[in-house]
Amino acid sequence: MSDPTNAPDWEKALAALRHANTVTVATHINPDGDALGSLLGAAAGLGALGKTVFASWGESGTRVPDSYAFLPGADSIVEPQEVPATDVFLALDCGGADRLGDLEPAAAAAGCSINIDHHPGNDLFGTLNVVVEDASSTAEIVVRLLEDLGAPIDRDIATCLYTGIVTDTGCFQYANATPDVLVLAAGLLRKGVDAPRIAQEVFESAPFNYLKLTGIVLERARLDEDRGFVYSWLTLEDLAATGVGPDETDKLIDSVRATRAADVAAIFKERPDGTYRVSLRSKGPRSVGVIARTNGGGGHELAAGFTVSDVAAGVELILDGLARQGA
Ligand code: 5GP
Ligand code: MN
Repeated sequence: MSDPTNAPDWEKALAALRHANTVTVATHINPDGDALGSLLGAAAGLGALGKTVFASWGESGTRVPDSYAFLPGADSIVEPQEVPATDVFLALDCGGADRLGDLEPAAAAAGCSINIDHHPGNDLFGTLNVVVEDASSTAEIVVRLLEDLGAPIDRDIATCLYTGIVTDTGCFQYANATPDVLVLAAGLLRKGVDAPRIAQEVFESAPFNYLKLTGIVLERARLDEDRGFVYSWLTLEDLAATGVGPDETDKLIDSVRATRAADVAAIFKERPDGTYRVSLRSKGPRSVGVIARTNGGGGHELAAGFTVSDVAAGVELILDGLARQGA
């Protein structure tokens, strides 16, 4: 990543955190491994510096998904309504204020909010903003933050931050797994991180019926060969039939994208209000980030998401977006 210390607000963010006695650390709704790893790593690091820390995200009933429950500190997360007004509000991995969900008012009300993120198109909602678009993960920026604050990065903190990097680089398989990222990850491993266990917890701990759900979704997959686009969808009925929870479905897109017949993949997931959340992935060079942002969502160029009313409408929007990119 480019040097985060070059961000105009870097020193101010360090100063604000140094002076704070109480800090809220927050991440985005429907948190993934980078969100949770960054949240818990930063919270533990700031706690080690003597701060009183509240870690949360803006959804009531905050429950850490099973595949991330092993993260040290996962049981310390508090409900958004239990978050008091603190000296500093630190938002991690949130591309926009709306990603804070129920914590959005708390961020707006804080005397100082710090927005640390790596999403292109971040709406710079913080009082201070450190957005490093070429960072592999928010966890990578948090490593640097803790180092510059003089926080000890022990085995537990390293475990959280390594998990963030592993999930956002797809186990070091995407283009964001640069030599520098591998060196950084090696440094975390030297703190005693149990990498095979993390890989098992994150990628091989789904309930058995997840295999059945994967079967349903893959059976349903559609291919637009000319456009190099593959997609499938998942209904509430599928979840009910298999007993798989919605927070267990994050990695289904990785199965859908596994064909050489397409370089752009999507999965549509029905939500309780009848709308569908779309997860988009590209193998490059076509940008799914542009498509998501055009349609009210966000994300990275190669991994992004938005919400649509139904699958057919969503497919149209994606094909439209691809056509605009000359395909
Ligand atoms: P996923 O498909 O795994 O849910 O999300 C892929 C990436 O896009 C993640 O970095 C996620 O934070 C981002 N993303 C997904 N949906 C949205 C959205 O509705 N708004 C914004 N700003 N980002 C999103
Ligand atoms: Mn991230």
